[in-house]
Amino acid sequence: MIDLRSDTVTLPTPSMYAAMAEARLGDDMRERDPTVVELEMLAARLTGMEDGLYVASGTMGNLVSVLAHTGRGGELLCDPDAHIARSEIGGFAQVAGLFHRYYKAARGCPDIASLKPMLKEKITAGSLATGIVCIETSHNHAGGTVIPLSVLEELRDLTKEQHIPLHIDGARVFNAAVALGVPVSEIAKYTDSITFCVSKGLSAPVGSLVCGSAEFIQRARLFRRMLGGAMRQAGVIAAAGIVALNEMVPQLVEDNRRAKAIAEGVSRVDSRFVDPNMTETNIVMIDVGHTGVSPAGWIKAMGERNVDLRSYGATRLRLVVHRHIDDIAVEQVVAAFADFNAKLAC
Ligand SMILES: *Cc1c(COP(=O)(O)O)cnc(C)c1O
Repeated sequence: MIDLRSDTVTLPTPSMYAAMAEARLGDDMRERDPTVVELEMLAARLTGMEDGLYVASGTMGNLVSVLAHTGRGGELLCDPDAHIARSEIGGFAQVAGLFHRYYKAARGCPDIASLKPMLKEKITAGSLATGIVCIETSHNHAGGTVIPLSVLEELRDLTKEQHIPLHIDGARVFNAAVALGVPVSEIAKYTDSITFCVSKGLSAPVGSLVCGSAEFIQRARLFRRMLGGAMRQAGVIAAAGIVALNEMVPQLVEDNRRAKAIAEGVSRVDSRFVDPNMTETNIVMIDVGHTGVSPAGWIKAMGERNVDLRSYGATRLRLVVHRHIDDIAVEQVVAAFADFNAKLAC
């Protein structure tokens, strides 16, 4: 089965297993685990931040970041399709106690004109102050889109002027960075904090990193402990995270390239399925609305052709490319689309 449901299905590499077996261990909560510390330092270096914090998941990374920045006060601004709003069970509201407002975004890219009047440095008679602005790149629900550096720069200037923290949910920021052809630090330099996953395309089995100033990470570390996220001999899994960062970034170039190849191949079958220009990283959104067959019908038909994918909304399919998808699989996916599409025409 060609599994395109998500890049979270990636398995650890042989060199990750080797590193896990040899990892030096300690108690992550007490005197710290040396391998976790090494991963945190590496993450800080790659993002150009002062310090890093290893957390169980991207969801926990976003939550401790929001808590550390706001101290449970003020408004959270994000876009309506943000992962933090749609897929994190309202943690920022339920746990961090933050009221949220949505700014407009086009395919995951914040609309500055919409965001600007929403920023409030200070509490007023009628509204809370802005506690934090959250952005996302690459943008999951928008289909792996990347925020241009010029927009990040504008956002940085705007939020800095009013002393409002800016947080990047960068679960797949390495996919975004390779798409832009820059190191991750070129993205992270515009923000106060960033979360990214070493699971997903980077293929580590568990975990995410939060990076920011030393003082911010100190607070985030306390909130991680409050949430039950301080770990013990976590070096076992952190060792795989180190390999992920040292060895797996070039893989993401291949993942992005193959996603584009799938989009191009499927658009050659029928250009109404997808505009390949919309595939910026490793996620391909395919619209099957014009075929008269529902996404569920397509999923069944693709399953019969050994391709496993998911629906997205009423008319779309979502394909996520990762290291277990090779060039032959790309051809097979395109052939499966062509085959079922031809059946429909009869
Ligand atoms: C996957 C993802 C997360 C959450 O990561 P988990 O490790 O699954 O909790 C957060 N933000 C975005 C944009 C994601 O794609």
